[in-house]
Amino acid sequence: MGVREQPRVIPSRLTRTLYLCLPLATAMNIHVLDLMGAASPKPTGSPGLSEEAIFGRKNCTNCGKPESSIWCQQCAEGGVGQLRIFYCSKPCQDQHAVAHRDVCEARRLLSRAVSIFMELWTTFEENTFSSKVRFVNERNGKIFLRLRSARSDEGTWMGKSFLEQFPGDAVPENARDALKKAVLFDNACTEVFSVGLSFVKILLKRGCLQEANIKVKDPALVVDLAEHPTLAPFGHNLLRVKLTTGEIFAIDFTGAQFGWRDQLYTWDTYVQHRVKEFNSLEPLGGAKQQDSMVYCRISPTSIGGASRAFRTDVVNEGLVKGLVTYFVQHETTVKKLLSLPPSLFVRERAQLVNHLKHSIRTRVQKPCDLGIGRLYFDDQFESHVVSTSEEALKYQNVWLSKEEYSANKGNLKALRYIWKKKVASSS
Ligand SMILES: [Zn+2]
Ligand SMILES: [Zn+2]
Repeated sequence: MGVREQPRVIPSRLTRTLYLCLPLATAMNIHVLDLMGAASPKPTGSPGLSEEAIFGRKNCTNCGKPESSIWCQQCAEGGVGQLRIFYCSKPCQDQHAVAHRDVCEARRLLSRAVSIFMELWTTFEENTFSSKVRFVNERNGKIFLRLRSARSDEGTWMGKSFLEQFPGDAVPENARDALKKAVLFDNACTEVFSVGLSFVKILLKRGCLQEANIKVKDPALVVDLAEHPTLAPFGHNLLRVKLTTGEIFAIDFTGAQFGWRDQLYTWDTYVQHRVKEFNSLEPLGGAKQQDSMVYCRISPTSIGGASRAFRTDVVNEGLVKGLVTYFVQHETTVKKLLSLPPSLFVRERAQLVNHLKHSIRTRVQKPCDLGIGRLYFDDQFESHVVSTSEEALKYQNVWLSKEEYSANKGNLKALRYIWKKKVASSS
């Protein structure tokens, strides 16, 4: 499969993965080097407008009176955006009820779907978190994030898993939510549209879906990857959805990496306040295609390849299959679930979300119990990831104990000697 001459965009989670296997990436016909050499993003003097500032009180939808104070609660139900339709008074709202009905229903379904997606995707990210965060702090609205390089990972000697605890020791326990989410969703936007695409489609298969890739405007937080600081300008993926009512929305699943709280916006508002420039706007599938194209060339036991296979499995077997199973067992559909009256919906939603969170955790835990995901060295002392239980068995007596490792820490020659001896005696 050929690589396009001018890649519009290097998928961003991918970019980070590629950094971890750079010798391989540079051998490939993609512009990783350009990427490593570009200037780091400048600190923004004026952080982007908060959601409150953007979505402040508006004119009455019925009579146009400014600064109206009540809004339709139903369309704002999902809590993932401030899609408020304002009215100056109850009589005005009542007068507008018939005209508003279809729009209200469509908005409610959409925001419910997005809220379910976000809760589950957050759980997915937390449970498959693999960034080695060494250092994080926030200064003047800019987050400095330093990732530990995979090469120097001492965990390989002891067969540590490539998975990391979220948020990890480097992120303070009392860090505010926005900072933790920025770390969690940092460079995660392409993954939603590649690995997560089938799940996106199941939950959001209404209206016309498009994939947008943009340069963002005025991020409220800027993650500066200290060791490879050039990832941010390479595009941000989001969804453009046109509903049957004609309304168009932006769904930004991973805007938290820029300090943005909401996921759902009317399209015009999003374009006005969040978009600096469009790189592309196309039917769903572009990011997935690029992602597959690159990963088919990456060794399945490299950290990047294994991590992606692992996460794909959790999405497909944990989330997608879990969702389908739930709908069969409960004799329902996405549409039916999302259309339930509020009290019933709250109950059904909780059941579904619990079911799927359990399903995600099981799907992560099971291979880990078998030793899948642990790091090991090949003959050249390059790090790889165990991807089968046979491999896990093969290496179980090779990994150093904590004591063995600490006794020889810093002495590469000694460590390698022990390792080789163990390999020889275990085969
Ligand atoms: Zn009014
Ligand atoms: Zn409404």
